[in-house]
Amino acid sequence: MAAPTLRVCALYPGLMNIYADRGNIAVLRARCEWRGLGFSLESSGLGERLDAERHDLLYIGGGQDRDQILVAEDMVATKREALHAAAARGAVVLAVCGGYQLLGTSYQLGERKLAGVGLVDLWTVREPGPRLIGNCAIEADLGTGPRVIAGFENHGGRTHLGSSERPLGRVLKGHGNNARDGLEGVRRANVIGTYLHGPLLPKNVWLADRLIELALGVELEPLDDTMEDAAHLSARRAAGL
Ligand code: GLN
Repeated sequence: MAAPTLRVCALYPGLMNIYADRGNIAVLRARCEWRGLGFSLESSGLGERLDAERHDLLYIGGGQDRDQILVAEDMVATKREALHAAAARGAVVLAVCGGYQLLGTSYQLGERKLAGVGLVDLWTVREPGPRLIGNCAIEADLGTGPRVIAGFENHGGRTHLGSSERPLGRVLKGHGNNARDGLEGVRRANVIGTYLHGPLLPKNVWLADRLIELALGVELEPLDDTMEDAAHLSARRAAGL
C-alpha cells in the first residue's frame, strides 16, 4: 500500500502566526518526510473558501488582537461550515492561542465582541489584570497515557470552558486558560486548542506524532529524537518542572 499523505491546511498563515507558530508546520512536515509519509500544504486566507474534504489537519496559529479582529469575521463567514464538516469527519483541528480563542463562541475585547466559529463551547474575555505570560507546562493524555506539553504563553484573554467541554490538559506550571481553574486548552475528539506557543510542536514532538496518527489513522514508528528530547527537556526546565 502506498504511504499516506498528510494533507495540511494553514488558516490565515500571514496573519495568525506570532512567536514563530509556523514552526509547527515545519515539524509536521519533517516528521512525515523522515518516515517516508507524504506531506502537502495548502493555505486558506481572508476571503478564501475552505474545502471540508480536502485536508486531514487544519492549523491556525496565534495572533494579535488587531489581526484577530480581521480574521474572526472572515472565518465565520467563509470557513465556519467547512470547519464543522471537517471536524465531524475526524480531521484534526489544531489551534494555538489567538486561533484557539476563535474556535469558541466569542472573544470579548472591551466593548467589542468577536464571534468565533463555535467548534467548541468556550468563550474568552479580557478581564482586568495583567497579561498571562511565561513558560508553562501541562499534563495531557491524548490516548497514549499522560504526557507533558511544555511551551510559552502570552495572552490577555481569559478562556472559560463550557461545562460539557474537556481541557487539553491540567496546568503543572504557568497560567493556562484563565489562571484560575488549573485547566489548559480544549480537546473535543480531534479538535485541539491550546495557549502554548514555543512553537508548540518543536518542543513537544510526541504531540506532533500523535496529531499525525489521529489525522491519518496510523500508528507511527519512533524516530531518533535525541535532539528533540533535549529541546523538550529544556522547555520543561524553563517552566520550572
Ligand atoms: N491576542 C490574544 C490575546 O492577547 C492572543 C495572543 C496570542 O496569540 N499570543 O489574548
